[in-house]
Amino acid sequence: MKKTVRDIDVKGKKVIERCDFNVPMKDGQITDDTRIRASLPTINYLLENGAALILMSHLGRPKGEPKMEFSLGPVAERLSEYLKRDVVFLSSPTVVDEAVKKAAADLQPGQVMLLENVRFRKEETDNGEGFAKELADLAEIYVNDAFGTAHRAHASTAGIAAFLPAVSGFLIEKELKFLGEAVEKPERPFVGIMGGSKVGDKIGVIRSLLEKVDTLLIGGGMMYTFYKAKGWETGTSILDQDNIDLAKQLLTEAEEKKVRLLLPEDVVCADAFENDAPSDVYPADAMPKDRMGLDIGPKTCETYGRIIREAGTVVWNGPVGVFEMPAFAEGTRKVAEAMAACPGVTIIGGGDSAAAVTAFGLADKMSHISTGGGASLEFLEGKTLPGVAALQDK
Ligand code: ADP
Ligand code: MG
Repeated sequence: MKKTVRDIDVKGKKVIERCDFNVPMKDGQITDDTRIRASLPTINYLLENGAALILMSHLGRPKGEPKMEFSLGPVAERLSEYLKRDVVFLSSPTVVDEAVKKAAADLQPGQVMLLENVRFRKEETDNGEGFAKELADLAEIYVNDAFGTAHRAHASTAGIAAFLPAVSGFLIEKELKFLGEAVEKPERPFVGIMGGSKVGDKIGVIRSLLEKVDTLLIGGGMMYTFYKAKGWETGTSILDQDNIDLAKQLLTEAEEKKVRLLLPEDVVCADAFENDAPSDVYPADAMPKDRMGLDIGPKTCETYGRIIREAGTVVWNGPVGVFEMPAFAEGTRKVAEAMAACPGVTIIGGGDSAAAVTAFGLADKMSHISTGGGASLEFLEGKTLPGVAALQDK
């Protein structure tokens, strides 16, 4: 168990917190401030408990240079609206400079300042010790609440923790609770659902889930690589040619481990990768040569839906069809609905799966939607996340 902000006394202390303010922007405007809103509980907790708070984050990929289109200025403004107080923001091209140091030193309990985009400095992603120390020198306690970058050993996510007592905020605490419990002591039956476009991206997670789940449901673009492994026709569907042997291996491993690995029994096949392309449903082993599979079929939806509704724990990563096109979103919707109806613990990992669930209006019916795409996958793979490992144990 990692220490959280609840386990330390922050009264009268300078606290530096790594947030995830990597919000989507268009023409200098924030187009979605979900991440800013999600960070408020930890920020408010620290301010209410008497911390003088210095916030930092990255935004986009300025690649180690002070590119002003990636400035956190707009975030400072939005944050100040939500916090109903001034947010001191000194846009320094070096993130830390004399003026920033002075502002940090003068900061009083209940006051908050935001540093400029940490990726304006090359040392951030190199985890440069010098930069980590510059950041650490501004404060007495380090808080990390940016789960989405916790799988990266950067100066602001890992390096800084060498110099300060380090604890998690509420967002990382929740991620560790749900993902951790799912992996370590799941309510059974434990069901995994894997979709998305390529098997190659997700081999590690599939392998790791095979050690833990009772049932693994496959869908999405990756199912055709499994079909091929079984010797079935896959038409013009997306295919991970390099990983057919691997899919064979995974099928064997599942059998050896007595994990029920299910492939979709029917498929929606279309003439083209287009929403209005003519389409029909085919059995798994009878796909036509000239059509492509874009969604799981109705029988599969029923089978998968039943298994999901009866699960004690469900972890889902990757849409089971091309959900961006309404004509091929049905399978993904049915999976999301079954999860919403499941009384067990339901966890979504993966950016596109989370977007799908949100688009269906079912987000608040899930136990947990992980905010870190790559980070949650690495966690489910059983890898150590540097940004989490750097935090103090309870
Ligand atoms: P996540 O972000 O949830 O981890 P991925 O990024 O792995 O998911 O995959 C999401 C993408 O997979 C979506 O853009 C979706 O359109 C695509 N996809 C799902 N099924 C298919 C399919 N049958 N053919 C092609 N692409 C697919
Ligand atoms: Mg994705």
